Amino acid sequence: MQPTDPPPRIDCDTHGRSIAAVVCCHMLQTSDRVVGFVENSADPDDLQAWCDACEATFLQEDGLTEAFRRFNDMKVVCRECYAALKARHSPLPAAPEPETDA
Ligand SMILES: [Zn+2]
Ligand SMILES: [Zn+2]
Repeated sequence: MQPTDPPPRIDCDTHGRSIAAVVCCHMLQTSDRVVGFVENSADPDDLQAWCDACEATFLQEDGLTEAFRRFNDMKVVCRECYAALKARHSPLPAAPEPETDA
């Protein structure tokens, strides 16, 4: 008997067999802008995140309701894809306005 279940695995087209993580559909469908990255679990064996719009819906629905699940439409990705999505959709730190070229 194992103390904990092994983390779920996924066969990723890009990265091969890896640990599974969960994101909302918007992160996968949106590549031309940042949708936000709200991490719900920082457990490396149980990564879950959704975008700002999902977070707003979650708060509005006050829980994991049917309406929220439909909106969120969670997708399973591999851990490498999750890291890539995190890098892509994390809001940029408030950068100082770029100075005009001197
Ligand atoms: Zn979302
Ligand atoms: Zn992957």
